[in-house]
Amino acid sequence: MENKLKKYKYILLDVDDTLMDFKLCEHNALKNVLIKYNLPSDDATIETYSKINDRCWKQFEKGEIKREEIFPKRFTEFLKTLNSNIKPMEMNQRYFYNLRETDCLIPGATELLDYLQKKYPLFVITNGVAVTQKMRLEKSGIKKYFKKLYISEELGFQKPQKEFFDFVLNDIGAKKEECLIIGDSLSSDILGGKNSGIDTVFVNILKNENINNIPFTFEVENLSEIKNIL
Ligand SMILES: [Mg+2]
Repeated sequence: MENKLKKYKYILLDVDDTLMDFKLCEHNALKNVLIKYNLPSDDATIETYSKINDRCWKQFEKGEIKREEIFPKRFTEFLKTLNSNIKPMEMNQRYFYNLRETDCLIPGATELLDYLQKKYPLFVITNGVAVTQKMRLEKSGIKKYFKKLYISEELGFQKPQKEFFDFVLNDIGAKKEECLIIGDSLSSDILGGKNSGIDTVFVNILKNENINNIPFTFEVENLSEIKNIL
């Protein structure tokens, strides 16, 4: 076991729901927008948005709508539920701005990065909007831990595509056996690891069931457990 673990030289970390609580970021960012517009900002209203947003992203994943259609669509539908005539894209812009300003680190995130940084070069691997992800990492004070950020929007490929990970390996100059992916998503991080032959740590804080039996190398239920592996 000891020899097996020593082979890792580079650590690739996901951001949302691995280091940052995305739902909490989203909640806080939207709440601030609603307050600014004098709209209801209670939990139920935010939950309505969240459901619409999830549905739009699922439609995108199934190829039913284009990526750029998500943003006007989610706020058009949401504003309809509030009978508001605010321009959807104006609200989207304010929301993105607030999202950049919000940091919601998962407990133990900074401690983990402090620990890992002393032993390995660390890299971010994230699907998302580049400017938003960079700002969020900066604001939360964890950007400094990473040697480089690999963001799907900039690469033109996204997790779990093998091309995403091929680009990362090539750019770092690493062999796949030398890398370890740490992430919460079975369908992007863990499946991506499987597709590209990279070992994975499944961060399963919410204790989700692995319905599709996607193989991972390690599983942890909180971030501090990772110190037992690395
Ligand atoms: Mg994630």
